Amino acid sequence: VLQEPPAVLQTVPAAPVEFVQAPPRKANACFVVLIRNKEVHDFRESMRQLEDRFNNKHNYPYVFLNNEPFTDEFKSYVTSLTSANVSFGLIPEEHWSYPTWIDLNKAAETRDRMKNVIYGSSESYRHMCRFESGFFFRHPLMESYDYYWRVEPGVKFLCDIDYDPFLFMQDRDIKYGFTITGKEIRSTVTTLWDTTKQFIREHKDMVAHPNTLGWIVNSRTGKYNMCHYWSNFEIASLKFLRSEKYLSYFEYLDKAGGFFYERWGDAPVHSIAAAMFLKKEEIHWFEDIGYRHGFAANCPLDPELNKKKCHCDPKDSIYYSGWSCTKQFVSLDPLSDMDIDKFL
Ligand code: GDP
Ligand code: MN
Repeated sequence: VLQEPPAVLQTVPAAPVEFVQAPPRKANACFVVLIRNKEVHDFRESMRQLEDRFNNKHNYPYVFLNNEPFTDEFKSYVTSLTSANVSFGLIPEEHWSYPTWIDLNKAAETRDRMKNVIYGSSESYRHMCRFESGFFFRHPLMESYDYYWRVEPGVKFLCDIDYDPFLFMQDRDIKYGFTITGKEIRSTVTTLWDTTKQFIREHKDMVAHPNTLGWIVNSRTGKYNMCHYWSNFEIASLKFLRSEKYLSYFEYLDKAGGFFYERWGDAPVHSIAAAMFLKKEEIHWFEDIGYRHGFAANCPLDPELNKKKCHCDPKDSIYYSGWSCTKQFVSLDPLSDMDIDKFL
């Protein structure tokens, strides 16, 4: 027998007009994904979690970049996971090849010599690190954005993200956000710090005061302590990477050749740049974003937040490991202003 709906349902008043239309605030931001075609299913795992935990409520666009053309299969598999805009870019040859001043024999010798280091013998890994250090933010598809969030295949998002990290950064003038920190393999960056010191000697005026050099430089020896933000996760300002300071630092490193004669990673490059050019207030640890890449995870330590929003064990957080430099970041005095002159 059909019944009349209860009276209470018949009398629900219409929502006032002003509540209906207010568009949510949104940052001018995108996800950026450097990836190979064969990694599509590993990426779908990352993307599915990112959509469920965050982006289904925001629809921030995805920019996929590749040194080879994306296949139709790749495109359709990722497009079908989101209602956001998705675009696919080919990397220009100059951004993924040897600059003219690089000695190819010396580069090949390096790859031979570094067989015992992870990715030490890989040529493509070096192009990848150079691209992520100096070029992804200059790709035409990235041009219109102010902030990016880097995402990789196979990473996990372990908690609901119930606010907008891009707006969080924009509202506080934060330029660089991270989840995990670690220590670089020394033999991949043998001359990176000396090259950086030479850059500082020539560009003293570019160093910020205060800065966070105290986080990466041993205050007794003046040497690089290998601490870096793990760049497989980054939420950061594109204006920062496009700034004259950052670009002149990248060009300086590129001329020195260490992307090919050693195996300089984009993580220490971004991190040292942030240490020189940014104040601590402009750098943010997204402690509450549960994230895993390989062996390392950032799992929120606050039990109440963790219970409600996450699926990870706080005890497994890399924060507690001796490899991480996050404790040192947290305890760094925001006003500390390392006197780098005495080490030059
Ligand atoms: P790891 O995180 O340091 O172990 O290095 P990955 O293998 O994860 O590479 C870092 C990022 O660059 C990932 O997003 C990869 O998909 C991407 N990547 C690495 N090598 C290449 C390459 O040769 N071509 C393209 N298109 N992407 C690459
Ligand atoms: Mn990776």
